[in-house]
Amino acid sequence: MASDKTRLSRIRNIGIVAHIDAGKTTLTERILFYAGRIHRMGEVHDGQAQMDWMPEEQEKGITITSAVTGLEWNRHEIHLIDTPGHVDFTIEVERSLRVLDGAIFVFCGVEGVEPQSETIWHQADKYRVPRLAFINKMDRVGADFYGAVEMMKKKLGANPVCCQIPLGIEEHHRGVIDLVEMRGIVWEDDHDCGITFKNVEIPEDLLEEAGRKREELVERVAECDDIMVEKYLLQEQGILPVDIRQALRRATLSLKLIPVFCGAAYRNRGVQPLLDGVVHYLPSPADIPPVSGTHPVSKEELLRESSDQDPFTALVFKIQMDEGRRLSYLRVYSGTVKAESVIYNASLGERERVARLFQMHANQKKRILVARSGDIVGVAGLKNVRTGDTLCEEKHPIVLEPMDFYEPVIFIAIEPKSLADTEKLMASLEKLASEDPTFRFRFDEESGQILISGMGELHLSVLVQRLTREFLVKANVGKPQVVYRETILKAAEDRGEFLREIAGKTQHGSVRLRLDPLPRGSGKEFLSALTGEVPFSGEFLESVKTAFEESCTSGFLGGYPVVDVKCTLLGVEIRENLSSALGFRVATVTTFQRVYEKANPVLLEPIMSVDILVPEEYASGVIGDIQARHGRVQEMLAKRKIAEIRASIPLSRMFGYSTDLRSFSKGRGTFTMQFERFDEAQDRK
Ligand code: GDP
Ligand code: MG
Repeated sequence: MASDKTRLSRIRNIGIVAHIDAGKTTLTERILFYAGRIHRMGEVHDGQAQMDWMPEEQEKGITITSAVTGLEWNRHEIHLIDTPGHVDFTIEVERSLRVLDGAIFVFCGVEGVEPQSETIWHQADKYRVPRLAFINKMDRVGADFYGAVEMMKKKLGANPVCCQIPLGIEEHHRGVIDLVEMRGIVWEDDHDCGITFKNVEIPEDLLEEAGRKREELVERVAECDDIMVEKYLLQEQGILPVDIRQALRRATLSLKLIPVFCGAAYRNRGVQPLLDGVVHYLPSPADIPPVSGTHPVSKEELLRESSDQDPFTALVFKIQMDEGRRLSYLRVYSGTVKAESVIYNASLGERERVARLFQMHANQKKRILVARSGDIVGVAGLKNVRTGDTLCEEKHPIVLEPMDFYEPVIFIAIEPKSLADTEKLMASLEKLASEDPTFRFRFDEESGQILISGMGELHLSVLVQRLTREFLVKANVGKPQVVYRETILKAAEDRGEFLREIAGKTQHGSVRLRLDPLPRGSGKEFLSALTGEVPFSGEFLESVKTAFEESCTSGFLGGYPVVDVKCTLLGVEIRENLSSALGFRVATVTTFQRVYEKANPVLLEPIMSVDILVPEEYASGVIGDIQARHGRVQEMLAKRKIAEIRASIPLSRMFGYSTDLRSFSKGRGTFTMQFERFDEAQDRK
């Protein structure tokens, strides 16, 4: 239906992503303000930004959960997701990238491409997200527009093309030069929050540069676009702005080029043209390829067009507790869903009722009656859904590719102050865990403590604060500790039998198992080497497999998860009337333990990839310290008297690193770190 396509072509689902402090939240506030979505601009450092609505966010001045909001610009509907920059919350970025169609990458005009941006950039590559770059903070001392563009090429392997250049930098930054229209845009009134701007002639001293850059823009676009190349070669009546825009749109959608914009969000410069750029260059749901998934039973591959006419298909990408109730965020890929209707969770194989639908604006919501393809909405009433589940029509079941999650690497112990607190704590933890798939908890029988684990110190400290503040739990909290894994170094095999009477019934099972080490990062594998001659029923085989999975949840060195092992079922012995699923299960568990102990088990510890920026004179001190922490320097670069050191360091040696780094760099060093891999622990056996 044509109207469906037209409606979709006016939607943009986009995210704003970047390194922490690049100015995402500041930019988002401006976008909301200019689109008339908010009537007053909050500033991050006052704790007043609208998108940072959790108390923890306002206190720390950072964005933690991604908040969805809708706004209108040039007759287009833009759904915006603000995402956090801190690596502890990478999952928030990842889940946003999964459901978004396009992104604005914000870079700081002084620092350029920082390490965290690289991670997110590669995530965006993984999901093939078309993107624009916004080089922010052009008003700051040391701002270097072309330097940042060069860094995009060098560090990200990106193919950026400038569609603007700054009109003045540092304290002379007045606006931007639009290379498509070849005009200046300036914001002159410093008291109207940047609402008014005006088009001006390109200043004399920038004419030559602007001409050169415009020529480059046209050439680069022509290189990527056949229609444009023809126009370029003919060059009879000159190339019109609309030609450039259409060709640049095609090049951006096919990920060949990254249009670059610039400005200074804090000074209210450059935001409106950037929004025009979102409309011009980023995809609508109609531009993205159909989503693919599989039939839950036949496993046949299925495609769904982005259209209201295709059967309803949506992905749950976030679950949040909202006044004690679960609020699920959906990206609708095809079809429509109504409030008070029954839908099918194909991932779980069960029906659920959609009670209410909402359009979201940070933590406020507006009720709507129907959500259609291309929409991002909140849903109340779904009881069992999990992040990553696919919702669809029961008659047309489909499971979309689930999201990748990260394994927690750090944990802390919590001791509730009273029995009542224990109950409250467990209930609260369940709620938090359903919101955040990177957060886990368990009760540790030995110590009687509750252990909660997550992605980093900041992640856990935010969770602990929410427990005490939002859920009013009183508890003592321990120090963060590293989550280890276990694995084996050599192959081993053995057989074992179980035979016992339990509750009046004889239970028997007998298995021969072999364990082999797998390369790091392969996870675990189960294989049956039984030949067809052995009549080993599905139920028995399932129970052997489940017993192996269970055994792997807690190894025998320290109770940590066992990874990178392959378990082969070499043989079984079946006794008529005695063999049972339970018997095989117990036989597998005990045999696994024996084989495991023979296979030279070791602990694996999380190794972090750490990026450190320090003034050059402190570099040798930092490197010496990395070695003392059993770390390895991977790379060192120097730019403008700042050394960038990239190292791999065991997480167990990184606690409190921010304080240490500050003290030996006189407060001038900064770092970011993220999980790299698990490797053999050097000093724990
Ligand atoms: P986020 O971590 O990416 O969300 O960054 P924020 O929006 O919280 O901004 C980080 C800091 O940079 C805040 O103190 C902002 O006021 C400041 N900032 C943001 N944009 C600009 C800008 O264009 N110029 C200058 N000078 N400062 C900015
Ligand atoms: Mg922020």
